[in-house]
Amino acid sequence: MGVILGIESTAHTFSFGAVSSDGKDVLASHSSLYRPEEGGIHPREAADHHVESSRTLLEGAILDWSVAKSDIDAVAFSQGPGLGPCLRVGGSVARSISMALDVPLIGVNHCVAHIEIGRRMTGCIDPVLLYVSGGNTQVIARASGRYRVLGETLDIGIGNMLDKFGRAIGIPFPGGPEIERRAQSYIEENGSDHILDLPYAVHGTDMAFSGILGAAIAHAKKGENHGLVCHSLQEISFASCVEVGERAMALTGKSEILLGGGVACNKRIREMTQTMASERGGSAYWPDWRLCIDNGTMIAELGRRMLDAGIYTKLSDSGIDPSLRTDMTPILWA
Ligand code: AMP
Ligand code: MG
Repeated sequence: MGVILGIESTAHTFSFGAVSSDGKDVLASHSSLYRPEEGGIHPREAADHHVESSRTLLEGAILDWSVAKSDIDAVAFSQGPGLGPCLRVGGSVARSISMALDVPLIGVNHCVAHIEIGRRMTGCIDPVLLYVSGGNTQVIARASGRYRVLGETLDIGIGNMLDKFGRAIGIPFPGGPEIERRAQSYIEENGSDHILDLPYAVHGTDMAFSGILGAAIAHAKKGENHGLVCHSLQEISFASCVEVGERAMALTGKSEILLGGGVACNKRIREMTQTMASERGGSAYWPDWRLCIDNGTMIAELGRRMLDAGIYTKLSDSGIDPSLRTDMTPILWA
């Protein structure tokens, strides 16, 4: 079976994934997550983690997929956006494999890959994407041949906000899943009606999260029930994303909304998005959680679409671009 290999290394995750070259099969990613001992992501330490894990990860993946070296038809990698030292590791590994096997190299826009794997797995056609991840929070829609950013966070990504709050109350990285668990057990015991009054920041189609982060930490430090703070933090920050998603649907006339990024693993944001979409006669979609978080499979899937459209990356153009924007990549594939 011919496959397109995908390499993800924008931030904390180093991952190899693959799709079959004919687009029929989607193969599970093999990923390793860098977890800082304390504090946030240190880009150089994350890059060291990626270097150290790359060989065993790739060997494990190839064994698991039962593919031979000669089955690899092309290598796609995240060219940006992301942390420079981390991106450089993925780029170097991709270039080495491409040269060693003499197969095409495809530099991929990471944010666009989140959209394309979502479309591939859910069957939605022309969605508004609510991209809620660690470093990015954007509302994106396709117009005039590009994925346009209609709105985004004005400060930190929603996932980073959750991780920082988690860290402040002693939850190790990544904080999002444990915050969801604590909110859920609080609701099971106390119901969901009562929420704390935390700052809600929507500015047109943009959002902001540093205000709510500071207020939530202050409540927790003052001795407020942590479960209640987690519940309130989810309700209010997710509501701001869903409001902007709804505004984007209204402005563009699109009826589908697709969730992507690690925070899209959260059941509550899915439920809120679903409610909003069905109230306006639309539909909400999200891929399996393994394809919401950063993963190599989504990079492979976008690489496959690009290669099918005759797009590949010359070695001289394969440098990484940490500040690559979603709308800098023309959509030349189906
Ligand atoms: P990404 O940057 O797309 O790989 O996503 C990582 C981010 O997703 C981190 O900030 C996590 O805290 C967050 N995350 C993962 N699972 C959940 C969850 N169940 N609820 C909220 N956030 C989550
Ligand atoms: Mg991501």
